[in-house]
Amino acid sequence: MTKETVFVFGREVELRPGRPDMKSAKIALRSRNGKYILTHGKYVSRKAIYEFLNSEKVKNFMVRSEREEALRADSRDKDKLKFLGKVCCVARVFGASRLDIVFGEREVKLFLPSEAFDEERYIKEFLTRELERLVEKYIDKWTRLTGIERPARVKVTEVKSYWGKMFLKTREMRVSLRLIEKREECIDYLVLHELAHLRYPDHGAAFHAFLDRFLPGNRALERLLKS
Ligand SMILES: [Zn+2]
Repeated sequence: MTKETVFVFGREVELRPGRPDMKSAKIALRSRNGKYILTHGKYVSRKAIYEFLNSEKVKNFMVRSEREEALRADSRDKDKLKFLGKVCCVARVFGASRLDIVFGEREVKLFLPSEAFDEERYIKEFLTRELERLVEKYIDKWTRLTGIERPARVKVTEVKSYWGKMFLKTREMRVSLRLIEKREECIDYLVLHELAHLRYPDHGAAFHAFLDRFLPGNRALERLLKS
């Protein structure tokens, strides 16, 4: 049986006939993992379903359940930290005399002075420094191996629309802070990719030949980065 779906207020809703014991005139809408499912009794007309779906009540329900889902995702995120291809559980130690972050294989320990401490900012600053350090390391490596000149400036930003970008006029390289979530090989690859743009502005054949010559696994790394 193929699923029947309709779009309401920009969201996809799956229509499912209810179980035989569902009251024949009943319509019920629920949200599960960000999806909407409408079940209905046997004798509910299409017209009644569409009127129900386009009502203010349904719109409010969608807004409310998405807000709740976002809140849940938020609290889940607070207990996980993605770092260089690993997902680490966050353990907090309060009352520490010195701020610290210690990474284990699958766990990261945060040593904080108190529960009121702004840990989000502290973590962000830590991750920024780590990414800057790694990007510098690979700039050293690739400028040495390729003979391409260093970029004039490197900036870690919180942009989400790209992993890295080279501004050719100013020779400024920007990398997204999200890159620190990826495996170190991805950072290695991205730095080479961006430096290559100083010689080959577009993604033409010469650009790819250059990448293939210096980093034969670059295509797999590009896929890994985007996955
Ligand atoms: Zn590019």
